[in-house]
Amino acid sequence: MSDCLFCKIIAGEVPADKVYEDERVVVFKDINPKARVHLLVIPRIHLASLEDLEPEHDELVGHMIRLLPKLAREQGLEQGFRTIINTGKGGGQIIFHLHIHLLGGPDLRGF
Ligand code: AMP
Ligand code: ZN
Repeated sequence: MSDCLFCKIIAGEVPADKVYEDERVVVFKDINPKARVHLLVIPRIHLASLEDLEPEHDELVGHMIRLLPKLAREQGLEQGFRTIINTGKGGGQIIFHLHIHLLGGPDLRGF
């Protein structure tokens, strides 16, 4: 998707504060953090949202989920963390490239 901001971050065309990457995912700091730690975990392939997921993506999704506690520990979140996936306009999704928000820290507010 040539007009997708997160695809441009993956391609290195738009800068981002990356903290982790491998052959399937890229992880970077949210530009407008809602807590001391606020990361976005995105797949390298363009999937607009959870609505795009097919059985062939199960391994990718599992990889993204299993990565979360490792990333949280690396960020010093020993007490736990929050994950959010906004889906569609009704779910508050603004960027239509699938991403998992990983949030944590002493300033994390409850719902
Ligand atoms: P969502 O509402 O789930 O689509 O969240 C999109 C998130 O992307 C928001 O938390 C934004 O602050 C974040 N964001 C937007 N542009 C950038 C960018 N260039 N680099 C990092 N994060 C971004
Ligand atoms: Zn994209």
